[in-house]
Amino acid sequence: MILVMKPEAHMDDALALRTRLGWMGLEVGPVVPHDGRLSLAIVGRFEGVQWEALTALPRVERVVPFTRPFKLAGRELNTERAVVEVGGVTIGGGGLVVMAGPCSVESEEQIHDAAALVAAAGATMLRGGAFKPRTSPYDFQGLGEEGLRMLCDAGRAHGLPVVSEIMDLDHLDLMCQYCDMLQVGARNMQSFSLLKGLGRIDKPVLLKRGLSATYQELLMSAEYILAGGNHRIVLCERGIRTFETFSRNTLDLAAVPILKELSHLPVIVDPSHGTGLRRMVTPMARAAVAAGADGLMIEVHPDPDRALSDGQQTLTPGQFAELMASLRIIGPAVGVAVAPVRPTDRSGGASTPTQSLIVDVS
Ligand code: PEP
Ligand code: MN
Repeated sequence: MILVMKPEAHMDDALALRTRLGWMGLEVGPVVPHDGRLSLAIVGRFEGVQWEALTALPRVERVVPFTRPFKLAGRELNTERAVVEVGGVTIGGGGLVVMAGPCSVESEEQIHDAAALVAAAGATMLRGGAFKPRTSPYDFQGLGEEGLRMLCDAGRAHGLPVVSEIMDLDHLDLMCQYCDMLQVGARNMQSFSLLKGLGRIDKPVLLKRGLSATYQELLMSAEYILAGGNHRIVLCERGIRTFETFSRNTLDLAAVPILKELSHLPVIVDPSHGTGLRRMVTPMARAAVAAGADGLMIEVHPDPDRALSDGQQTLTPGQFAELMASLRIIGPAVGVAVAPVRPTDRSGGASTPTQSLIVDVS
């Protein structure tokens, strides 16, 4: 149920209303702007509460029922698009965010080389896994805390905020210490205790779509984090399991406009896991930008054929630079700014972080 307040209502009135609803035993969401007014939502159960009692509350103009179960992740309450800030980079504000880097952090040298080359080509964030969800327990599992430290150092050295996957709630403090954004991988999209834990912190979360999750299931997972009080969420389409076996997954690009229609949260696309094939990454990354994605997650490695994980879907440095160059043409054609090549970084030295991506394309 959404309680839309009268135009003259101020934040103080909304907060007073929120307290009063709490006394009535109701679970209330945050106060949000709604078509030029303030509104708040009853998100939990409300059996036994009279509709008339709600409309009679001070400065309430009208009460609107939710038609979808993802109350905080949907657009019925939040009519304005969310912008998520990650270490000085904004996601969802009109520029393209490119999170690039290796599947796994493998060594100090590898992650520093990767950070230098993706920064030079115009990436805005550095990715790298330290705790890896591998199908086989005999495969490389990641460097753990040591990997996080290396990732964090490499990101700082090249002015890139870092994102890495959290697999276990026990690692929450550790991950928060080293990362600017925490990734929930496809396999953990419905790990509800993990989602609840992420709802209690104030770190941006990158929530990847589960291997066979519907849009609604993805948004209900986001709802868990939002319901806990953390509103800094970015959704990621990363391919789903279908009957097709040619590619590792089937990248569902319709997810971009559909999720944007259903939700106010930013949406990015990962064509690396989405296809599993290096030669398919560039065309699908371009298509994702044309489809309106707020960002991309791309696996890039200084020497992908020697990568310890996912080398077959990882771009070479040259392929990544070419992709970025083509996005600087495609992006502005669809109203999206793409960060320029950095002039200073070819030698691997630190340079100024690229943050402002808004250009006038009219
Ligand atoms: C990853 O990004 O490192 C990863 C394992 O992705 P996904 O969870 O989408 O498979
Ligand atoms: Mn990977």
